[in-house]
Amino acid sequence: MSEHDIIIVGGGIVGLSFALALRGSGARVAMVEAKPPTPAPAEAFDNRVYAVSPSNVAFLRGLGVWDGLDATRLTPIRAMEVFGDDDSQIGFDADQAGLAELAVIVESSRLTGVLWQALRNEREIAVYCPAQCAALAIENGQVRLTLADGAVLAGQLIVGADGADSWVREQTGIAVREKDYRQLGVVANFACALPHRQRAFQWFRADGVLAWLPLPGERISMVWSTDADHARALMELGGAQFAQAVQEAGNETLGELRLISPVAGFPLRLMRVASSVQYGVALIGDAAHAIHPLAGQGVNLGLGDALQLARTLAARKPPEGFGDLALLRRYERARKEATLDMVWTTDGLARLFASQASVVRALRNFGLDLTNRQNWIKKRLIRHAIG
Ligand SMILES: Cc1cc2nc3c(=O)[nH]c(=O)nc-3n(C[C@H](O)[C@H](O)[C@H](O)COP(=O)(O)OP(=O)(O)OC[C@H]3O[C@@H](n4cnc5c(N)ncnc54)[C@H](O)[C@@H]3O)c2cc1C
Repeated sequence: MSEHDIIIVGGGIVGLSFALALRGSGARVAMVEAKPPTPAPAEAFDNRVYAVSPSNVAFLRGLGVWDGLDATRLTPIRAMEVFGDDDSQIGFDADQAGLAELAVIVESSRLTGVLWQALRNEREIAVYCPAQCAALAIENGQVRLTLADGAVLAGQLIVGADGADSWVREQTGIAVREKDYRQLGVVANFACALPHRQRAFQWFRADGVLAWLPLPGERISMVWSTDADHARALMELGGAQFAQAVQEAGNETLGELRLISPVAGFPLRLMRVASSVQYGVALIGDAAHAIHPLAGQGVNLGLGDALQLARTLAARKPPEGFGDLALLRRYERARKEATLDMVWTTDGLARLFASQASVVRALRNFGLDLTNRQNWIKKRLIRHAIG
């Protein structure tokens, strides 16, 4: 049996960031990840990208990983243009809000790569990868995690960072509330004929939400959240026809588009937990909440959890243990507002723009135009979104 204080299950962006944030806390940390390490990122652009908020860029920089990213692969978003389904429009500008950028686009595989690299340089963090979890027992203040190869890891706290279908959450019986949006998020990258000038675009359309995020050079990354049937029909189109459909859906804003990546679809759902902690257990990232990608905030929310849980654990006053419920509740309370805010905002917007009722349609478009004319509201919205 190997002894640790904190056992993290899940080495995605959130779990890895959390592990690194624990450095210097004095905790003996173990990381368990099911998938083997990913090969070095390819030259081609990853079709999974994230818009990381300025506060999380600062967090990742503080962990010593952000500056390890290849700067030529990062794209700051300087402005964002959002369109309703009735010619209404709202624009957000970093300059107007007194910011250098609204967010920075980073490829998922590259961010995961630098996080793993940093973790592997940490001798004090025990890494079990690839490793399958087999059983979990929590008794008398002790967590015992048994792996499929028979190894047993003991600790005071197990942290589920194992994504929306969290095994840790399931084992601990933490209840979830879920809603299937019956949509897929279709993702793909395109070369564009016109320069995007580091602007992001979003269209709330009758058939879903289309987002274009700027990539380096004349390229964009797309997420089209749309009904499952429509998504499948889009994905079955050939490259040129698919690019044509995306180009038209975005009103030819960047001229001709050419597909430059594989096309993938992710099922979308809303999920939140009744509680993100139990004695000896804490959930972070998508294990604790899954939201609609229309605000591009899933990873940002999870990174906020990672930072807060690491801070809360570091502020522990012995003899308080890492798994004490009173300590873990402090983490839960600190994250409650941000999580609920994001859950309701994304779900509210998804439902508002999914409605075909004419009065709802008129109101939402009026709302966008009205907000667009109120600079102070826009500044508040930006401040709120960047965290
Ligand atoms: C189409 C789409 C677009 C999105 N766009 C954005 C965006 O622009 N910006 C943004 O912030 N968010 C975005 N998101 C959300 C974002 O992808 C998630 O919020 C984020 O990936 C969650 O990170 P995580 O580390 O919590 O979980 P995951 O990325 O799911 O990582 C979980 C890790 O745990 C491992 N694991 C799972 N089970 C086990 C187990 N039993 N044992 C050991 N390891 C296990 C997995 O292998 C994985 O490595 C988008 C989501 C979708 C669907």
